[in-house]
Amino acid sequence: MPSQAKFVPIMRIYADTHQHKGMRKQLIDVLKGKGITDEDVLEAINSIPRHFFLDSAFDRIAYEDRAFPIGEGQTISQPYTVAFQTQLLQVKRFEKVLEIGTGSMYQTTVLAELGAKVFTIERQKKLYDQHKNYYFKSKYLNVKFFYGDGFKGLPTYGPFDKVLITAAAPFIPPLLIEQLRPGGMMVLPVDEGNEQRMLRITKLQDGTTTEERFHNFNFVPMLTGKS
Ligand code: SAH
Repeated sequence: MPSQAKFVPIMRIYADTHQHKGMRKQLIDVLKGKGITDEDVLEAINSIPRHFFLDSAFDRIAYEDRAFPIGEGQTISQPYTVAFQTQLLQVKRFEKVLEIGTGSMYQTTVLAELGAKVFTIERQKKLYDQHKNYYFKSKYLNVKFFYGDGFKGLPTYGPFDKVLITAAAPFIPPLLIEQLRPGGMMVLPVDEGNEQRMLRITKLQDGTTTEERFHNFNFVPMLTGKS
């Protein structure tokens, strides 16, 4: 009988070279040019190797200001989008932040680098499962990963200081407003027919909300249920 070839997984080598760091510096200039001013956000993006969150095939283009596929029909958000949403969220150290749409874990890592206690939910099992190989799991102990439907949030872990949705919501999810503490803020793109409008919702002390509207973005849709 022929002997069976053993399956040997190929190890991914993670290296953050001078070239990567140089490309990251250039990306920071691009983000500044597009109007990102929050130094903490820029510093976080400058310190996180985005190419670690992508297939190694994207190694040389990972610092272009573009979204890239991450499998399951999903994308890692464009760096400008990550920077814009994070800047709007005004994250402070030790704040509890609920993120909907873990995806590649890149945005999650930006929030963690800013010192937030991050609770992140992903509805696609295959993407969720990748957190087991999270490169930074021993660096960022302030991140908790959940498999579930982001429309429901995480009632047992709330209330949250901030909520960030990284997929285009068909409406402002009421359960997520409920899980926001008074004074808290939610940043989300909402599908308004032809366009996806970035909104920042602030919950006031009396439980009512105010809404600020920003420009349009491109996101994959926020979907109900798990997959
Ligand atoms: N923050 C991610 C963006 C990924 S794209 C990153 O930086 O890579 C948006 C993600 O939201 C996808 O992974 C998609 O599966 C997920 N998603 C869509 N609807 C969701 C829902 N209802 N609950 C949780 N995750 C959802």
